Amino acid sequence: MKDELRKLPSIDRLIQSANESDRFAPFGSQQTTQALRLVVESARQQILNDQVCPSEAALLEAAWQTLAAWFQPTLIPLINATGVILHTNLGRAPLSADTINAMRSVAAAYNNLEFDLESGKRDSRSVHAEALLVRLTGAEAATVVNNNAAAVLLALSALANRRKVIIARSQLIEIGGGFRIPDVMKQSGAKLVEVGTTNRVHLRDYEEALQNQAALVMRAHHSNFRLQGFTHEAGLEEICAVANQFSVPVLDDLGSGTFLDTAQYGLPHEPTIQESLAAGADLICFSGDKLLGGPQAGILIGKRELIQKIKRHPLARAVRPDKVTLAGLSATLLHYLRGDAEQQIPIWRMIAAAPNHLQQRALGWQSFLGVGSVVPSLSTIGGGSLPQETLPGFVLALSVPKPDQFLAHLRQQPIPIIARIEANQVLLDPRTVLPEQDSIFLETIRNVYAHQITPRRKK
Ligand SMILES: *Cc1c(COP(=O)(O)O)cnc(C)c1O
Repeated sequence: MKDELRKLPSIDRLIQSANESDRFAPFGSQQTTQALRLVVESARQQILNDQVCPSEAALLEAAWQTLAAWFQPTLIPLINATGVILHTNLGRAPLSADTINAMRSVAAAYNNLEFDLESGKRDSRSVHAEALLVRLTGAEAATVVNNNAAAVLLALSALANRRKVIIARSQLIEIGGGFRIPDVMKQSGAKLVEVGTTNRVHLRDYEEALQNQAALVMRAHHSNFRLQGFTHEAGLEEICAVANQFSVPVLDDLGSGTFLDTAQYGLPHEPTIQESLAAGADLICFSGDKLLGGPQAGILIGKRELIQKIKRHPLARAVRPDKVTLAGLSATLLHYLRGDAEQQIPIWRMIAAAPNHLQQRALGWQSFLGVGSVVPSLSTIGGGSLPQETLPGFVLALSVPKPDQFLAHLRQQPIPIIARIEANQVLLDPRTVLPEQDSIFLETIRNVYAHQITPRRKK
């Protein structure tokens, strides 16, 4: 054992060998030294457990592997073949080409984030996306924050701290990631006043609560669940009318917030931003990366006086968006302004994709791969939008010996593919596979399929 220990090369020697090899250059000397120390220490332990000393080449290789793992980015692009369009775990909305270009160019250079080019003086970053939001919605004012959760927290903090906020019991929702309306209210300092029952909330419930000096009435979109059966919820318009009599503003948390009518794609009608405004909501908030199809952001639009209060609150500074988000959001909003959102914004292209178009794509995959069958299937919206609603389409179904293992192999590829299993078959949904990913997608499927099938010789 002593002899074996003596064979172990010194750290200095290994560092020198690493320096002489180009392979270690990308990792830098500091991390390389750390990895070599780690590898030598683990070899020493192995020798003490009666194993032979590894060769210098083996030690260097082990250090290289360690370094490669350390330097591997953890956040990487992948291919979503699940058919879930706004998959929160898969980063929600992929962005339009214009949006990506706008974000890239603003990130790569200095920019006029807070600088007025005409006067040469300091300006507010809030001018960028806000003007577009005002133009697009006709609201008096708008402001942008990091995400919709921040928008709700900020609005409640700025408008209802230590004061009452009236909300229907049926809307005390929890969305993913620990966002619960009652908890957010508590955090903002607002006092929660629940009205109605879990399944039925009437206008008179609001009327009664409004007798006692409230700061705000809040409506929250159900997002990820459906109220069904013996249910009733007062409509936004009547809530606004009665709140207005008491001079209490109404905050409508739309969650997804869509400008386009989902009903034209065979889905149930999702309340639009325009409708919320028309119904009389004083303040409306929604996400940038749900049905808007843009970068992560929270958007608040509504009465100028309320938006100004919100912008002046100290929390506003803590949740303000960066230049990249503002550039991207503006580019996404321009699609709606121009009227080309359905063609240019990926998630709307996916929602609008016709079943026969999806069938053609799946058939193309089938003929390229020479395996599988094209069968009707259903895609979903996801992202807490339109729960349980589906879009009819077609998928390529693969019969493989071990579907779970096949999915695991797909996940381990350099550009991973995420798919789903139904009735023991692997389903690949063309709706959510971006057309520009098609060739890498097909190559990857072909390789993984060949790998899984050939060792068994036949299927
Ligand atoms: C999704 C959602 C939020 C949170 O939005 P993020 O942009 O994810 O922070 C808040 N309220 C409702 C009703 C939602 O659906």
